[in-house]
Amino acid sequence: MTQITLIEGDITDQQVDVVVNAANSSLLGGGGVDGAIHRRGGPEILEDCRRLRASHYGKGLPTGRAVATTAGRLPAHWVVHTVGPVFLEEDRPARAALLASCYAESLRVAVDLGARTVAFPAVSAGVYGWPLEDAARIALTTVAEAVAEEGVAGGLAEVRFVLFGGGAYAAFEQALRDLGQRS
Ligand code: ADP
Repeated sequence: MTQITLIEGDITDQQVDVVVNAANSSLLGGGGVDGAIHRRGGPEILEDCRRLRASHYGKGLPTGRAVATTAGRLPAHWVVHTVGPVFLEEDRPARAALLASCYAESLRVAVDLGARTVAFPAVSAGVYGWPLEDAARIALTTVAEAVAEEGVAGGLAEVRFVLFGGGAYAAFEQALRDLGQRS
């Protein structure tokens, strides 16, 4: 069975097989967790991203999709870059589906790579403006569903959410409790 765990901390410190990056569609780096991953992981990650852009994603990686690169100097094997949706109240249902897709696709890519441990940040909950409680609920529901599927559960030992700051941690803790009460 896959363990779902929460910690408050910096995702660039995590010794896991896959670190997921909340990238933007250009794949060419940005602020927030993306900036931290490229800073700490070094230029190899950006080189891989550039190659991927040139070979597959000339128009950018679509929102909700995920793609893997080296993790450079991070204490991980791969970075899986996923593009979260910007929060927009009027379009919430469609965008919530895209946010869920970020988690499901990232896990699929991680499992295909043979990863046993995966660390996620709170995708879209920073500059992209997604309210934390809602972002946490979507993240945990999607991951819980994915790891219950045959083929994923067998391969993955741990999916870890690495939350930056006490507010994010508290939101995920509450969402995990709510999930436990529903199942
Ligand atoms: P997005 O553009 O998808 O909103 P951000 O990077 O702005 O992405 O924020 C996503 C989440 O990642 C936010 O909760 C932010 O606080 C968090 N974050 C920023 N830096 C780090 C880090 N080094 N480790 C883990 N989480 C981080």
